[in-house]
Amino acid sequence: MVPNAKTDEDDEGTVTDTLHRVQATIAAAAQESGRNAGGITLVAVTKTHPPARIRPLLEAGHRVFGENRVQEAQTKWPPLRREYGGVCLHLIGPLQTNKVRLAVALFDVVETVDRPAVAEALAHEMSQQARWPVCLIQVNTGEEPQKAGVLPADADSFIQACRHDWRLPVKGLMGIPPFEDEPALHFAFLRDIALRHDLPVLSMGMSHDFALAIHFGATHVRVGTALFGSR
Ligand SMILES: *Cc1c(COP(=O)(O)O)cnc(C)c1O
Repeated sequence: MVPNAKTDEDDEGTVTDTLHRVQATIAAAAQESGRNAGGITLVAVTKTHPPARIRPLLEAGHRVFGENRVQEAQTKWPPLRREYGGVCLHLIGPLQTNKVRLAVALFDVVETVDRPAVAEALAHEMSQQARWPVCLIQVNTGEEPQKAGVLPADADSFIQACRHDWRLPVKGLMGIPPFEDEPALHFAFLRDIALRHDLPVLSMGMSHDFALAIHFGATHVRVGTALFGSR
C-alpha cells in the first residue's frame, strides 16, 4: 500500500472522530457554563460538500444540518432524506423572495428571516403549502453593510411584526459577529434581544467561537470547518 494513501474508510474515521471531538467540546463548554449539553444542538454546516462527505455523519447518527444556498440544498438533500429518516435541515444563508417557495418546501428551520418582503413571502408560502418551518430572525449585530440581517435599531419592531402581523412561527434569533470583532459582545447583545422577546432559540457560534457562544447561551451552534476541514 502507498504510504499516506487515503481510503474511504480513513475519511469516514476522520469525520466521525471530528464529530465526536466537536460534541465533546460542546459538552465541556456546557458544563463550564452550568448548562445542560442536551440544550445545545450542533448544526453541521455542509455547504459546498458533496453527499459522499455528508453520509458518514448521517451513518454516525447525526441529523441536523445547515446549508447556505437554497439551490444547492435542493440538489443534495431530497435524495439524502429518502435514505435517512429524521433529517432536520436549516437554511443559514440569505434568502431571496424568489426562492421562498422552494425554501419552505425544503427546510425545517429558516434562520435568516431579515426583512419585510421575505417575511411576507414566507407567510404566504407557508399557508399555501401548509408547512411551517421554524423561523429565526437574523440580526446584523455588527451593522455590516455587506451582511444580511435586520439592523439592531429595527430588530424589536421587526420581530414584533413577524410574530403578530405575519404570524410566522418565530422561535429565536441568529447572528454572525463581524470577523474582526470580539464575538462575546455580539453574543451578549443577541442574547439580550432574545430575552427581551422571550425567544428560546439562539443560533450563534461557528467553528472558531462556538464554545464561547455556548457560554453566552447559544442553543444552536453552526459548525462547518471544524467538522469537514476548510472548504
Ligand atoms: C459557513 C457558515 C457557517 C460555518 O462556518 P465555519 O467557520 O466553517 O464553521 C456558519 N454559519 C453560517 C451562516 C455560514 O454561512
